[in-house]
Amino acid sequence: MRCIAVALPVPLFRTFTYRVPEGVAWPIAAGSRVLVPFRNRPELGICLGETEPPEGVALKPIRAVVDAVPSLPEPLLHTARWISDWYAAPLGLTLRSMLPTALTHASAPAPAGKLQRVVRLVQELPSLLQREQAFARAKQQRAVYELLEAQGGLAPLEALRTQAGCSAGVFSAMAKRGLIEIRDESLERDPFADRAGVAPPPNPSPAQRAAIDAILAGDPGQVFLLHGITGSGKTLVYIEVLREVLRTQGRTAIVLVPEIALTSQTVDRFRGAFGDDVAVLHSGLSDGERLDAWQSLRRGERRIAVGARSALFAPLEQVGVVIVDEEHESSYKQSETPRYHAREAAIVRARAEGALVVLGSATPSLESWERADRGQSVRLTLPDRAAGAQLPPVAVVDMRVAVREALATRSPQAPYDPALSVLSPTLLAAIESRLTRGEQSLLLLNRRGFAAFVQCHACGDVQVCPHCSISLTYHRVPEALVCHYCQYQTDMPVTCPRCASDKLQRRGLGTQQVETLVAERFPEARIARMDVDTTSGKWAHTQILDRVGRGEVDILLGTQMIAKGLDFPNVTLVGVVDADTGLNLPDFRASERTFQLLSQVAGRAGRGPKGGDVIVQTRMPQAHAVRHALTHDYVGFVREELGARRTPAYPPFVHIANVVVSGVHQAAVAEAAAAAAQWVTTLMQRQGLRDLVLVGPAPCPIDRIKDRWRWHFLLKSSQPRLMTRVAHYIAARCPVPKDSDLRLVVDRDPVSLL
Ligand code: ADP
Ligand code: ZN
Ligand code: ZN
Repeated sequence: MRCIAVALPVPLFRTFTYRVPEGVAWPIAAGSRVLVPFRNRPELGICLGETEPPEGVALKPIRAVVDAVPSLPEPLLHTARWISDWYAAPLGLTLRSMLPTALTHASAPAPAGKLQRVVRLVQELPSLLQREQAFARAKQQRAVYELLEAQGGLAPLEALRTQAGCSAGVFSAMAKRGLIEIRDESLERDPFADRAGVAPPPNPSPAQRAAIDAILAGDPGQVFLLHGITGSGKTLVYIEVLREVLRTQGRTAIVLVPEIALTSQTVDRFRGAFGDDVAVLHSGLSDGERLDAWQSLRRGERRIAVGARSALFAPLEQVGVVIVDEEHESSYKQSETPRYHAREAAIVRARAEGALVVLGSATPSLESWERADRGQSVRLTLPDRAAGAQLPPVAVVDMRVAVREALATRSPQAPYDPALSVLSPTLLAAIESRLTRGEQSLLLLNRRGFAAFVQCHACGDVQVCPHCSISLTYHRVPEALVCHYCQYQTDMPVTCPRCASDKLQRRGLGTQQVETLVAERFPEARIARMDVDTTSGKWAHTQILDRVGRGEVDILLGTQMIAKGLDFPNVTLVGVVDADTGLNLPDFRASERTFQLLSQVAGRAGRGPKGGDVIVQTRMPQAHAVRHALTHDYVGFVREELGARRTPAYPPFVHIANVVVSGVHQAAVAEAAAAAAQWVTTLMQRQGLRDLVLVGPAPCPIDRIKDRWRWHFLLKSSQPRLMTRVAHYIAARCPVPKDSDLRLVVDRDPVSLL
């Protein structure tokens, strides 16, 4: 009897055996999609190859082989097996996540290009002064204007109306005034399809040349860590390597970037160099467009796949190089099953393809740095900025001192100026001089919203999300208290719900508030804000960045989004409003994250001939993440941080897995977490697993998200094999009460412990 093993997209750690009836071409290539009966309905699975029939079981026959050519070539199957093994994820679910949605169900994808009523901004009023004149008493119009502007000038009408909470009349009034335009448009069209590419610089520098030559001389499967400071021209190295791999070797390539919308400049350069050879895979594609892109790669019509995390699964054959740009970015880790890290999976796929791997960053992850120290990858360095540019000097402003001095020198009659504790005189003067000279500034504050939280002055009560254990953030446009975890929204209360006092204070800083303060200070400046609230439209990021590139923005203010890879020569000032926002999070990566963020955002300044300055405001100037960022000293930071990771041991010195138990009843979750930890402890004792440490269980730092309570424990081991075994035991067998709402998740190599 002819039988095949089939992986099905179900949360089970097993495969299924089916019979192949007469009349079906044999053999069936592994990686082909097959239609099989499963639980009384047809299901698409992936053929894993021939297998022996089990004894005494009546096997069901497959219904059809769907692919003429396997959807998943062998190196991808290999990568899937590795992901499934390492991250303890069911193979069928892993394989499913590698395919475009359109290929995972039997029906055809919906046609792209549905029309939608959209609002487009026609007249820009970028400065506060212009706005005040234009909307003297038209408050609602102003709110609509600001929302629309914040979203990059284009948004669906209905969504905008709900957000602004106003009537359709407001929109028609604005259209009559020529401020906006309302029309039917397709928001589905791939906006990257018709972006012009940007030609790369013609000649690599000697340092770039040396890196390119070293990479091209690498053995198949070899990993390179390209440590190039910000502005050192890593992109040109990638491009020259790709050119050689494509042209001379006739092979294909994969380029991973953290997020397409934030890295449009980098993507434009690849397009500029390779034109239609590039398929840009991004989350804005409709299912149909994604399928088109996938098929063009499968057929070899395009030879370079550029995209975020999942572009790693591009169906290319003969892959010659895999590039992971900004390899330290935590967005490379997927936060749901399979919880893979694209950087690690990239190395596995490249080995299977005999391809080179280039991991690039100005601030490599400690994992990658240590891997190079151990000789498992080759470190290459670009120590200088390209084209003679210099790293910008970084000045530190100790806000404890700045605020004290400002308070001491102000006249007793002057009203309290809230800008005092937010923007130091040093930073204000620096912004002012940029405005006078027609140069651009970036301001980083890694917290969106207006105020971090609302607290009662009388009783101290803080407004908290009823579904998550986290304070609600005050937003001004539109006015609401918002939970940043579950999007719960409520009106700003007038009095304290607990003690009825009317002294509710908004405390802590958010991007909205900084925007207001800066706008009040510089009413003529053209300000743009970029954070999750302003970028809900799919292409809002790109639109805002394009405006900065065209010189239409004087000050770009934003969260960490503005720290990623921007290359604008006219940006001569970077101000970090509060360096400390992420420093004290209860996560072993808090310092590493902060250092990376500060270094990356500092690296946006001084990329052109005019040079640039960085000003960092902090209340913790002695923290090593801040100290080393001031001197652009990556190596110094790493030395100190690695020291801190030895005791207690954390990655890269041990392997860790975070086991999270969640559910709606607090006591049940605590009990289940304790039981699971006990189960693991018993397992350890019974099997004599000495090199395994269990820490916990304890409530997660954020102990409730979306109505679910969360407990966790941590497993540590220096032996990866042992960790794999234990992770599988837990994921497949750990007894969590069935038929309850309790869930147990194993997150190996977690990027966050919150
Ligand atoms: P990184 O990604 O390392 O921060 P980029 O690749 O963005 O740096 O390069 C920084 C800037 O230097 C870009 O504007 C790029 O066009 C320019 N550049 C890079 N290499 C060269 C070169 N060899 N000659 C001239 N300009 C270069
Ligand atoms: Zn109160
Ligand atoms: Zn919430």
